[in-house]
Amino acid sequence: MLKCEVCGSTAIREESVDEVFHVNGHYQLVEHIPAAVCAQCGEKTFSRETAENVRKLLHGSTHTHPAHAISLDVFSYEMPSNPPRANSPIVGNAFSG
Ligand SMILES: [Zn+2]
Repeated sequence: MLKCEVCGSTAIREESVDEVFHVNGHYQLVEHIPAAVCAQCGEKTFSRETAENVRKLLHGSTHTHPAHAISLDVFSYEMPSNPPRANSPIVGNAFSG
């Protein structure tokens, strides 16, 4: 039986997923990849054959072309400018007073 390598759950579903890969300085999206997806934690696992097919697609060892191109908005995550308040009240300390 399939088992999630991350959380150990056996609730694995066969799904078609989209994944973005970073290859040779380009982000490339591969759609409709068959994957085993953990229903508990969302971990996606590809079979060895599927992973190899994706690698061939992206590295062009077979003469493949993208099905279509999309524009991609890229956001850079920034830390909040205001750090979390250090003086927030401590609630529920059972060992005091
Ligand atoms: Zn899992």
